[in-house]
Amino acid sequence: MKHNLIIIGSGPAGLTSAIYAARADLKPIVFEGNQPGGQLTITTDVENYPGFPEGIMGPEMMDLFRKQAQRFGAETHFKNVDSVDLSKTPFEVKVGEEIHHADSIVIATGASAKLLNFESETKLMGHGVSACATCDGFFFRDKEVLVVGGGDSAMEEATFLTKFASKVTIVHRRTEFRASKIMQKRVFDNPKIEILWNHSVVDMIGEPDQGGLTSAKVKHSETGEVSEIKCDGLFLAIGHKPNSDFLNNQLETDDKGYIITKADSTATSINGVFACGDIQDTVYRQAITAAGSGCMSAIEVERYLETLH
Ligand code: NAP
Repeated sequence: MKHNLIIIGSGPAGLTSAIYAARADLKPIVFEGNQPGGQLTITTDVENYPGFPEGIMGPEMMDLFRKQAQRFGAETHFKNVDSVDLSKTPFEVKVGEEIHHADSIVIATGASAKLLNFESETKLMGHGVSACATCDGFFFRDKEVLVVGGGDSAMEEATFLTKFASKVTIVHRRTEFRASKIMQKRVFDNPKIEILWNHSVVDMIGEPDQGGLTSAKVKHSETGEVSEIKCDGLFLAIGHKPNSDFLNNQLETDDKGYIITKADSTATSINGVFACGDIQDTVYRQAITAAGSGCMSAIEVERYLETLH
């Protein structure tokens, strides 16, 4: 069966696209992917999304997005898209053994924060451990926090966190930052920021139901010596990875794999294929901006489909 529109991804971008497309009677199909609801489902309170003055839990907010899309007829599936064939129309979308066809596709598969990938990190994510200072920094007023990384994100997050935290320690695995000089200078000039050079975080200590993170174990890159640092929060700023591998280079991307969209548009290098949210946004990466671009994508799909008939 051929669909008007298949939306791949179910964060704020994909589900907002689904709400708008469903209300335009396009009967969109949404394949939600491995992390239904997207990155917000690994955060706790969301306090910066307009309309929720008391804040809302990330997973609950994404349930509401999904219900709103379903209310207007969007069909959502907890399934993962394995690959797409964009070389012919209608486009082909492979989901396990199933093959679906669609006149248009919206790609909203987002980006994933790179993590260190150990058990205690998974356990304490949202309980003192975070990959987003903008989202969670506010909860660390007068607390001591670590920031891991040496790029612009680490500098930006560390500087931002000094608004709340009493002390911020950047833990970096080498003896120089790769961040731009101006961002480094801001860090060096900030009396609330300390730097622990030549160390990597190797473990995180604490229990989610007993106040969360209490300390982190760090290892010296050269001597291998392990020590423990008391901290209330730990922010990972070691980069993001766009979830674009399944596209198999069929769309124009930058050298990191982020889809390139036309200016003021969600149009990609292939007519009828649109991209919204973090998969095409290396700058803002917020739920509200992702939702905004999701809305744009649905409006552009509607216009595109009109040209086909
Ligand atoms: P990035 O430039 O890739 O830096 C990642 C940092 O994390 C590096 O310092 C790296 O260490 C460290 N790292 C990576 N894997 C690690 C691991 N497993 N353990 C410990 N440390 C690890 O990423 P980013 O800072 O997110 O920046 C991404 C892009 O966005 C950049 O182009 C940046 O300029 C841009 N950006 C710009 C702004 C701004 O201008 N306002 C703000 C944020 C980001 P090494 O240095 O040793 O490799």
